[in-house]
Amino acid sequence: MKEIYDINDRKILENCTLCPRECRVNRFDGGNGYCSMDAGLNISTICVHRGEEPVISGKEGICNIFFAGCNLHCIFCQNHEISQCDYRGGRRYSDLENVLDRIVRILSNGVHAIGFVSPSHVVPQVKAIIHGLNNRGFKPIAVYNTNSYDKFETIRSFDGLIDIYLPDYKYVSPYIASEFSDASDYPHVALKAIKEMYYQMGSTLSVAENGQAERGLLIRHLVLPGHAEESKKVLRTIAEELSPGVHLSLMSQYHPTVNVMKHPLLNRSLYKNEYDEVVTEMESLGFRNGWVQDMDSNVTYRPDFRKENPFE
Ligand code: SF4
Repeated sequence: MKEIYDINDRKILENCTLCPRECRVNRFDGGNGYCSMDAGLNISTICVHRGEEPVISGKEGICNIFFAGCNLHCIFCQNHEISQCDYRGGRRYSDLENVLDRIVRILSNGVHAIGFVSPSHVVPQVKAIIHGLNNRGFKPIAVYNTNSYDKFETIRSFDGLIDIYLPDYKYVSPYIASEFSDASDYPHVALKAIKEMYYQMGSTLSVAENGQAERGLLIRHLVLPGHAEESKKVLRTIAEELSPGVHLSLMSQYHPTVNVMKHPLLNRSLYKNEYDEVVTEMESLGFRNGWVQDMDSNVTYRPDFRKENPFE
């Protein structure tokens, strides 16, 4: 394999402490850590996606790079086909030059941004792709679309490299984070990572004349069925620990996958009154920047990662 990592990233992958799991496995020997991913690129799909928030997708869509595997195992994951190894998305790309060729083809058709989706376990790979594009003369808007189970040091190392942070903030209660994502420390770890993003970007989300965001922070929160109270706590934490001036995307698109059909709470879509309750809390806390979703959004986000473009 041609060397694509700098010496520090290579060292991290040889004794992996990249994310808070700190598995200390050698990823050049295979995918033996929690995320099950080796030191390769581990890309499942590269495609144009038009379904993100309007400022993120822009008019032409965003070139999303969907990675296989994940360092969280959320029981309700909407991308479980690629994140939880039942399909692993085929890992279609093993060579960096092929990946760059594919991205450049998409960018040459008028797409301005690239999105790294679920990248916390493949940070050296993300950096290799950005540097590879820069070396070819391309500097697209780089979007880090993360579950936020990232080390603070990882986010700090992105300063100047990532243009837009698009982090989830899923839960504030350790017992829920443990039951749903197998990570009781998620609330604390994610908040620390998001605070570093806020430190770098502040509350401003700079938007170009064409309506596409160019730089900043946009925090996502997916409201789960039966968990409106938890969502309200999440919003209060963001307001108190960061600012109600941050940009927020409050998502209603939850759809139960086959993995949670027997779960007593997660086996259904969200009720409108649950979502409305959270929207009311958002407004009363003074959040004024961001997006809410229509209740039919759970129908539009149902990717099929066996297809070359899972959204079409
Ligand atoms: S990136 Fe993967 S192997 Fe490395 S510490 Fe995290 S879960 Fe473990």
